[in-house]
Amino acid sequence: MQERKGGCLCGAVRYVVKGEPQMVGLCHCTHCQKQSGSVFSFNVFYKEDDYEQHGDTKFYLDTGDSGKPSRRHFCGECGSPIFTTDPGLPGVVIVKAGTLDSMEGLHPQAEIYTDRAAQWIAPCEGTKRFPRAPSF
Ligand SMILES: [Zn+2]
Ligand SMILES: [Zn+2]
Repeated sequence: MQERKGGCLCGAVRYVVKGEPQMVGLCHCTHCQKQSGSVFSFNVFYKEDDYEQHGDTKFYLDTGDSGKPSRRHFCGECGSPIFTTDPGLPGVVIVKAGTLDSMEGLHPQAEIYTDRAAQWIAPCEGTKRFPRAPSF
């Protein structure tokens, strides 16, 4: 079974994800821009049961367009964003791919909130593009 390891910048939080991700995508929403300090987040969706964490994260209770609270987990020591849980996707953890030790073989399938994307970013080849959030 495929296994990937990852963690935050300082190493206080480490995790293992098992199996194939359910989805791989880019999110251009303003909240991902703020949290990452960058132009989009590269997200990998795993079943909660396939995610195992060592070390504690803190979380910020965020409210997205759905109006429901999502939890943006981050390392309390170094601030690296690690994963998000969303009530619209129960049992799923949305891992920030940049925290993986290796992103090899992960290619985005979808881009969401493309209406918020930086003007200079070209569409990523092979992705389905959604101007806002797709309904799952
Ligand atoms: Zn850390
Ligand atoms: Zn986002």
